[in-house]
Amino acid sequence: MYLRSSHSPVEILFSSLASSDISHGFTTARNGFSSGAYGRGNLSWRVGDDPSAVQRNWDGLLGSLGIAAISLPLQVHGIHSAYVGAPLEGEVIEADALWTDQPGVAIGVLTADCMPILLELRDQSDQLIAVAAVHAGWKGALGNILAACFGEVSRQWPQVYAPACKAFLGPSICGNCYEVGQDLAEKFSASGYGGAVQWQNGNSLLDLWKVAVLQLSSLGFLSGNIDIAAECTKCCAGYFSYRRCSDTGRELAFIWMK
Ligand SMILES: [Zn+2]
Repeated sequence: MYLRSSHSPVEILFSSLASSDISHGFTTARNGFSSGAYGRGNLSWRVGDDPSAVQRNWDGLLGSLGIAAISLPLQVHGIHSAYVGAPLEGEVIEADALWTDQPGVAIGVLTADCMPILLELRDQSDQLIAVAAVHAGWKGALGNILAACFGEVSRQWPQVYAPACKAFLGPSICGNCYEVGQDLAEKFSASGYGGAVQWQNGNSLLDLWKVAVLQLSSLGFLSGNIDIAAECTKCCAGYFSYRRCSDTGRELAFIWMK
């Protein structure tokens, strides 16, 4: 189940399933200082929004969270994940997932329709090992960036135990809104995700949430440890949606180990 917090100048959605030794959230477009197409909670510097409004949104968010920075990657719709051992100076690492095992180092990804996924990675005795923030549009979903990221963390920390881990799927485009070309739909079907594809009136619809659940289940995550916001950025009000309007802001998904 997801809850809303408006204590920050930027509205935050968070999962009640999250453990008490992490902080996390998904921002929305509802509150904040941006205006027009970027209204109101835009947190991207790269979409043409007024930098002073973006700065006010970031200052308000970080102030309310009580942290100095949230490190972001330079997202390129790939499947590479990068380790963050200390806060990054700007969006300097090309990656679509970040992970850290350092308490107090906050990481995040920006999205507008693509799927943000936050991971709590724990060992068999439920000890917190690491956290990850993953950005998956169709390329990341088809390339299984979730498995790539989980694999990278597991190489460093072999004791990571999937049945003890948790995943939070943030607001993103839903399976009734996400029209894709027939070629792409066929690629997903051929890759074992046929259950995530609908063929409707000659259109192909892709459900990224179903793809993510299938991938997490294959990794060994338990269904009770996967929480889906089930809020569509395109057909629910209060979110940035690239498909609805390409001139738009970005939502932030963030997580850190306390
Ligand atoms: Zn929708």
